[in-house]
Amino acid sequence: MTAEHFDVLIVGAGISGIGSAYHLQHQCPDKNYAILEVKDTFGGTWVTHKYPGVRSDSDLYTFGYRFKPWVGAPIASGAEILKYMGEVIEENHIDRHIRYGTRITSSDWSSKDNLWTVTTRREADGTEQVFTANFLWMCQGYYDHERPYVPDWKGLSDYKGHFVHAQLWDPATNVTGKRVLVIGSGATAATVVPAFCDAGAKVTMLQRSPTYFFCNPNQNELADRLRQIGIDEETVHRVVRAQIMFDQDMMNKRCVEEPDVVFEELKMLVRAYAGEDFQFEPHFTPHYRPWQQRLAFCPNGDLFQHAAAGNVTVVTDTIDRFTEKGVLTASGEELEADIIVACTGFRLSVMGDIPFSIDGAHLDWHETINYRGMMFTGVPNLVWVMGYFRASWTLRVDLLGDFVCNLLKHMDELGAKRVDVALRPEDAGMELLPWIEADNFNPGYLMRGLDQLPRRGDKPEWRHNQDYWREREEIPKINLDGVEFLYDGQRADLRTLQAAE
Ligand SMILES: Cc1cc2nc3c(=O)[nH]c(=O)nc-3n(C[C@H](O)[C@H](O)[C@H](O)COP(=O)(O)OP(=O)(O)OC[C@H]3O[C@@H](n4cnc5c(N)ncnc54)[C@H](O)[C@@H]3O)c2cc1C
Repeated sequence: MTAEHFDVLIVGAGISGIGSAYHLQHQCPDKNYAILEVKDTFGGTWVTHKYPGVRSDSDLYTFGYRFKPWVGAPIASGAEILKYMGEVIEENHIDRHIRYGTRITSSDWSSKDNLWTVTTRREADGTEQVFTANFLWMCQGYYDHERPYVPDWKGLSDYKGHFVHAQLWDPATNVTGKRVLVIGSGATAATVVPAFCDAGAKVTMLQRSPTYFFCNPNQNELADRLRQIGIDEETVHRVVRAQIMFDQDMMNKRCVEEPDVVFEELKMLVRAYAGEDFQFEPHFTPHYRPWQQRLAFCPNGDLFQHAAAGNVTVVTDTIDRFTEKGVLTASGEELEADIIVACTGFRLSVMGDIPFSIDGAHLDWHETINYRGMMFTGVPNLVWVMGYFRASWTLRVDLLGDFVCNLLKHMDELGAKRVDVALRPEDAGMELLPWIEADNFNPGYLMRGLDQLPRRGDKPEWRHNQDYWREREEIPKINLDGVEFLYDGQRADLRTLQAAE
């Protein structure tokens, strides 16, 4: 079979893949590329999730790209995000580069040819197609879009009602007048609970442990004011982005330095919607530090307005087992429901569950060490865009867009066909640790999958620090001739010396 060749293959047409394509087109216009996407449309996360009220939980001034102004309210619906992405695709003619319905089934590196061979299956008819590429830009996200995470609950098959994970929600489902039990308390639960209440369901939210919520109106006063005085949208986007990032940075620092004060402030915001006498114990007092997991945004305090009005019953308990009628909690209460919606998170999918090999040998990602959460020892010509969790994911798409384009240009300048990262002499004996630090950030899907993820070292170069404010200084200044980069198997500084001799 003849392989189709591209300089760069981008995996995934989600918000990362589309942003990366934009940067490649603008910064390396001589590179040809394709985006391979298993779905039949763009959007990734924003196509997969169809539950009522699906929306961003960070603002679109920062979740939007730096190059395309966001002109709506800060928190956007899934449909609004797709419209925004659609405009980016249309304005930049990205569509002609996307191969939809194309599932990557394997990816193999050949050191002899300095090429990736990417085998794909067309979803429509099962046809196999092979691509080769000099460089792989992995924008496949981090979770399995088809199989969500459902805990191994006892008796689930005994339940006679309708059980569904939020990720697989069918928008045609009617909840009006139904008893709906929502399991979970994160951003998804905080979105569906008010939406189900609005639709006239009798809602119970069963949570194992409480979550922090940030309640605010869905508007940005600075953006509104700048628009009112006639400032153009590009400037509004740039200024409001800067304002939000500054505020978030302050908030992150304060969450670490004075978590109790922050919690009191979060409570004040809740009271503005739920009333002065709203009770935070036991259902709304978390056991971890604010921001150790994503702080769930609650536009206009909708969840708390419903909680205060008695439209939703909150139960904090663990599940003993499912019954025919619902769920039996560990403390012996049976919660009966017509519909049970699991908001229990994701199943981690490392590199899109694509089997990788290097020169014929299976690649175990856990055997690799990550370089700033984007490149991996022993894996040439590949970058993974893994965004931020405390800041908008997309901020890293823009940062790494610049990095990859600089790297590609640098390789061309050197005439190099291959780039690797490798530990430096000063890294010898460095302790190798799991991908994330559990006391820094510990979402369940990452903790459950640590043995599949690359490892980290104890030095800043060898970890994904999840700190946008630090990376926006550090990443643009990376020395591509640094000792950690090997071009065609040789350290950049030694290549330069040799060339001079
Ligand atoms: C409901 C929800 C709300 C969120 N809200 C926010 C938010 O407000 N702010 C924020 O920062 N983050 C948010 N996140 C996190 C969010 O996932 C990311 O911010 C972002 O959308 C991820 O984009 P991505 O393009 O990297 O990955 P994805 O959106 O996961 O897209 C990856 C794409 O790659 C494709 N793909 C995967 N494997 C293969 C393969 N083998 N072959 C071909 N194609 C493949 C997938 O089909 C998919 O289209 C949210 C997540 C969810 C689930």
